[in-house]
Amino acid sequence: MSSETIRILYVDDDPDDLFLFSTILKKIKETNYQIESAASYEEALEKSQERFDVYLVDYKLGKATGLELIQEIKSIQKHAPVIMLTGMNTGSIDQEALQLGASDYLIKGEFDARTLDRTLRYAIRDSQLMESLDGAAIKFRSIFERAGDPFLLMDGTSKILEANPIFISKFGIEPHSEESGLGYFFTDLIEDQVSRLILMDVLGKKSELYDLETVLKIDSDTHINALISIAKQDANLFQVLIKDLTAMKAKEEEDLNLKKFSSTGRIARLLAHEVKNPLTTIVLSADQLQMELPENILEESGDLIEVIQRNCNRINQLVTQLLESTRFTELDIANYSINDLLDESLEQVIDRVQMKNLDVQKDYQDEICNIDVDAEKVKIALINLLVNAIEAMPESGGKLFLKTYIKGKQCRVELKDNGVGIPKENLERLFEPFFTSKESGSGLGLTNTQNIILSHGGSIRVKSEEGVGTTFLLSFNLSS
Ligand code: ADP
Ligand code: MG
Repeated sequence: MSSETIRILYVDDDPDDLFLFSTILKKIKETNYQIESAASYEEALEKSQERFDVYLVDYKLGKATGLELIQEIKSIQKHAPVIMLTGMNTGSIDQEALQLGASDYLIKGEFDARTLDRTLRYAIRDSQLMESLDGAAIKFRSIFERAGDPFLLMDGTSKILEANPIFISKFGIEPHSEESGLGYFFTDLIEDQVSRLILMDVLGKKSELYDLETVLKIDSDTHINALISIAKQDANLFQVLIKDLTAMKAKEEEDLNLKKFSSTGRIARLLAHEVKNPLTTIVLSADQLQMELPENILEESGDLIEVIQRNCNRINQLVTQLLESTRFTELDIANYSINDLLDESLEQVIDRVQMKNLDVQKDYQDEICNIDVDAEKVKIALINLLVNAIEAMPESGGKLFLKTYIKGKQCRVELKDNGVGIPKENLERLFEPFFTSKESGSGLGLTNTQNIILSHGGSIRVKSEEGVGTTFLLSFNLSS
């Protein structure tokens, strides 16, 4: 501090006091002070438009008081170091000045050069500290506001005190807008009992928690898998960081689906290759036998040859189907609106929809949701899904919900039914060729559907709960 010049604005309407003050100031050798003076409230106001390092303000300033000036200076420069000058026996003025944000006060005639120097330097240091704290607070507030993950502050009862915008938009909760007056509690968002108990225990013990995997409720039918961490800020204030795992889990599931699909394809090709050659030999031999066997034997056992031929054809057909449903298909790509494709697919199955009296609800993205696809193939995929949904639904009260929306660079489609749902143990096998729970099902619908979606570089996932319903989620890359 010694090398730089510190600019003081000295505000006092008494020239003698100014003279006295300057004299004391000159005695200070350690710090280089430069003094500027103002003899009235108005002059002081005008001069404080430019920034001074420190202000000394006399209490008595004509009509106005120094207290008013302090307020004015503070409104221009929030953390300006202001020191109040008072006479002796001025009652509570010094306290009032401090309340208005003055850094300190000096009693005229009661301070020497050392005290003055110390008071000035401390006032400046405090103000710099306040400024940097303010800067840090702004920085942290901005991190809080702009964080990509939901973040909130809660008290020891888990009442949410503050939350960042991403939390507010994800959970639809604005801490300050609650109507009940009781507030929102973080524990109410936690689905399972065990996690809730763990959380209450952490709050009770005023301890902390890292990466607890749990399920959080967004609304009655939306839940997210999340990792929550709790850090203690003080005895009754806790920070909660929420990491939404939904996207990660979805990606894992998509990757797994793709892996399964390509390994099924490999097995299918191997099988086709190994089976088709001997099968051809069997068919040719049976044909030969049919030609060469004498009439009387043919009459007796000719049926057996036909059984061989029929079954060989069946095997051949199955192998071909298997191969086709697991091999990436050639695409005839053009630009289409997903909404149109969905409507055209629905039109193809409208008879069955009407027969079951299904209630079809649509929630389509209004904006253009265009994708580059092979329309005929995508329609086959959508029809397979629609037929499955229709077949899963009850004779009355069936609801089919079709939704399209844009998320990032993707176009998403949701097909939701309130049908029988899929047992957990079947979920993993759903896309396997020939997997069916239906008496006369082929078990190839979903294999083909998956093939079509994956061939387009898209993805397909399923969420289902027995007795509640099933949702298929598709995503395609938007046209660029
Ligand atoms: P298929 O319809 O011939 O049985 P799919 O490959 O289309 O073959 O479907 C495989 C199986 O997946 C079905 O047999 C059924 O058990 C289950 N499934 C598919 N979609 C649904 C759905 N929306 N609701 C309930 N189960 C479904
Ligand atoms: Mg089917």
